[in-house]
Amino acid sequence: MFIPESANSSTELPSPTTTTRKTTAVFVAEVTCVMCSRLVGTAVETHWPPVNSVLIQVEGSAVLRRIALQQLRCPDCGGNTAPTEVTTRLLRRERPIDWQQDQPRRGRPPTWLVAQRATARLRGDQST
Ligand SMILES: [Zn+2]
Repeated sequence: MFIPESANSSTELPSPTTTTRKTTAVFVAEVTCVMCSRLVGTAVETHWPPVNSVLIQVEGSAVLRRIALQQLRCPDCGGNTAPTEVTTRLLRRERPIDWQQDQPRRGRPPTWLVAQRATARLRGDQST
């Protein structure tokens, strides 16, 4: 199992700028549908089991999104999901330090807005 590439750019996971270590231990789990066994996505969390919500890269998506656990359903049959093959991985985030880029970014949507948009997108996906 691999850590999704998007985990390296996710602001939800600890980065070397906030921790002294270069690596972060994360739990990586493949989330599958209990009804049709379809792979729903790959979850990445710093703690396991996840509480209330989970950071997951949905199949076909290139970004990690935080999704409420009760909203994490199979897009095909709407079945409940369960993590399989939970493994621990070291997330290495060895980006070259660019102090210009390290400054707070402006024009970035606040976390609550990103979550709101993700929820809206999820609802839109389910209605189609
Ligand atoms: Zn399913």
